[in-house]
Amino acid sequence: MTEALRVQVAVETPQHSGLARPLDYTSKCPLTPGVLVRVPLGRREVLGIVWRERAEGSDFPDEQLLRPVAEVFDALPPLAPAWLALVEFAAAYYQRGLGELALAVLPPELRKLDAPGLAKRHARLIKRLDKAVAADAVDVARPEPGEAQQQALDAIELALSQPQPLPILLHGVTGSGKTEVYLRAAESVLARGRQVLVLVPEINLTPQLEARFAERFPGRRLVSMHSGLTPVQRLSHWLQALLGRADIVLGTRLSVFAPLPRLGLVVVDEEHDPSYKQQEGARYSARDLAVYRAHLERVPVILGSATPSLETWQRAEEGRYQKLTLAGRVGDGALPRVRLFDMGVLPRSKGAPPVLAPLVLQSLRERLERGEQSLVFLNRRGYAPVLHCPDCGWKSGCPHCSAWRVFHKTERTLRCHHCGFTERVPRACPDCGNLDIAPIGRGTERLEEQLAELLPGARIARLDADSARGKGQLESRLAEVHAGEVDILVGTQMVTKGHDFRRITLVVAINPDSALFASDFRAPERLFALLMQAGGRAGRDAAAADRSEMWIQTWHPKHALYAALKTHDFGAFAASQLAERRGASLPPFSHLALLRAESRDAAVAMAFLRAAADATALLPGADQVMIYPPVPPAVQKVAGIERLQMLVECGSRVLLQRLLAEWLPSLHAVRAEHKGLARWAIDVDPLSI
Ligand code: ADP
Ligand code: ZN
Ligand code: ZN
Repeated sequence: MTEALRVQVAVETPQHSGLARPLDYTSKCPLTPGVLVRVPLGRREVLGIVWRERAEGSDFPDEQLLRPVAEVFDALPPLAPAWLALVEFAAAYYQRGLGELALAVLPPELRKLDAPGLAKRHARLIKRLDKAVAADAVDVARPEPGEAQQQALDAIELALSQPQPLPILLHGVTGSGKTEVYLRAAESVLARGRQVLVLVPEINLTPQLEARFAERFPGRRLVSMHSGLTPVQRLSHWLQALLGRADIVLGTRLSVFAPLPRLGLVVVDEEHDPSYKQQEGARYSARDLAVYRAHLERVPVILGSATPSLETWQRAEEGRYQKLTLAGRVGDGALPRVRLFDMGVLPRSKGAPPVLAPLVLQSLRERLERGEQSLVFLNRRGYAPVLHCPDCGWKSGCPHCSAWRVFHKTERTLRCHHCGFTERVPRACPDCGNLDIAPIGRGTERLEEQLAELLPGARIARLDADSARGKGQLESRLAEVHAGEVDILVGTQMVTKGHDFRRITLVVAINPDSALFASDFRAPERLFALLMQAGGRAGRDAAAADRSEMWIQTWHPKHALYAALKTHDFGAFAASQLAERRGASLPPFSHLALLRAESRDAAVAMAFLRAAADATALLPGADQVMIYPPVPPAVQKVAGIERLQMLVECGSRVLLQRLLAEWLPSLHAVRAEHKGLARWAIDVDPLSI
């Protein structure tokens, strides 16, 4: 009788079960790490990934009876060692179970298949791919790179031949030709027989970029990866990547885990975008993992942005990243002239300032007369953020959250944007019966209505999460804008992202000031990026560029952020922000983790966090780590659950990681002592605090 071999298999075990490591199984034949298998777990049989060939140490742990691997998916090539290393790093860094993370980033459809089922899918896919005739290598028209683009491309070319290239920051405003650089760099990588991974922050932005890559590389196979795919598509695209059949993989944050046996280049477009951070489960940053993956696989990574994250910018300043700059717009496209309107100078009628300053209204009228388009940006949706009774003081609070319910006029509802609780808007005040309840403040819906009153005859369209909720609504609205059927586009930050509107010559930002004084230290950075991006929508058409402008209605026209925006000087803005952050020991000059706790009873969450803080006392390096008192987030109660968070700060990433690795496992025991705790979670490198 031959002795059975031992293998360690990553399976999905919940983080809190304490089984964070791969489990031991036996196998009759040797199994390469990265091979997919099905194994028994409890009474079920589950999908797993062979992680190591043999368990370390010579003895089987007494408590675990080794069971044999049930099935091997031998039709597929194993996941590459670099893929396993990436997942192992991500699980350790973000403090999640290895199996939990590894299985979460595989296509869910895989779990439903047994080995013969998958082999059948695989064979069918290969047959289909082999039958598809490759398009002839036609001569695709492509612009000659400009001088700055050529310099960037030379640097990327050099990086491609280096054994361990530095990450590259490609800094350039909207329309400076960054995408063209990605395309040329991809061309070079594809010619070397390698695969290209392109990350985009949002699913809405994939079709445009996909179209540009597909058009440039008609003979190459491009697959997308995002949440809009059906499970069957997702599996098919994943298989094409794994089999090396896909040359280009383009997708949202999850695609950083795409299996790519011939990876040659990673591109992260709009690298500063907060959407790259996963907000639940393993709270990973796809941007940071892309940098790590490129390092592991010794390939260049290009981080592109007009307004890089300050973390990335600082690394470039320190020479840890290579900075390449595209200084101006391609051709004669100029950046819009940024103008600030001081709302403080306006006379107030009945206490409230007018929605639009006269000069701004005049600018909108000029666009209408010339047949040009305008974009009006207000980062708040709904009609009004709150309804109010002037007689008794009633306000439209949410009974389940510490937040107001938003008045949606066309829908005739009061809707909570935190828990979704929705009711028909009351006819009269629920407390005193007063019929004159009134909206306070303004959202995009009201702005749209007010613009229609001020500019009769203008064709106005609104773009926000409410108006774009239905399938295809976003696309059809954008198509209207492109077709010139819209004069004024009103919207939230949704309108500022990526869309290439050629005819827009005016961008108006309505009172974006609140972010200047927000408690989140990243709020100014976000606002600057948002306004740069919004401004970037104007003047993309060179013929109209000299007429393009951005108006900002503000109560703080002297603020340094607006001064830097006026001169389009990201460097100056970054320098002032970084100086502040350095002084306050904030990232990138320190490293943070946030421990969150949730309970119906705030006292329970508080007690858990305090006990958790006490548990650090004896850990190595505890004296180098600062633990702040627990505080509520901006909205403390959501859907009846009280939330608290505790910030952990350390000057050294390594020390923080060491502490977390010791601390987190001990919190399972702490939790057990706090009955009534609904959930707890750790967020490493949190984006919003
Ligand atoms: P970004 O990604 O920085 O917004 P793009 O690469 O999309 O910039 O370039 C903006 C526009 O200019 C696109 O229409 C693109 O086709 C065009 N373009 C880019 N580079 C060149 C070039 N070297 N010559 C002519 N047109 C170019
Ligand atoms: Zn009332
Ligand atoms: Zn609510």
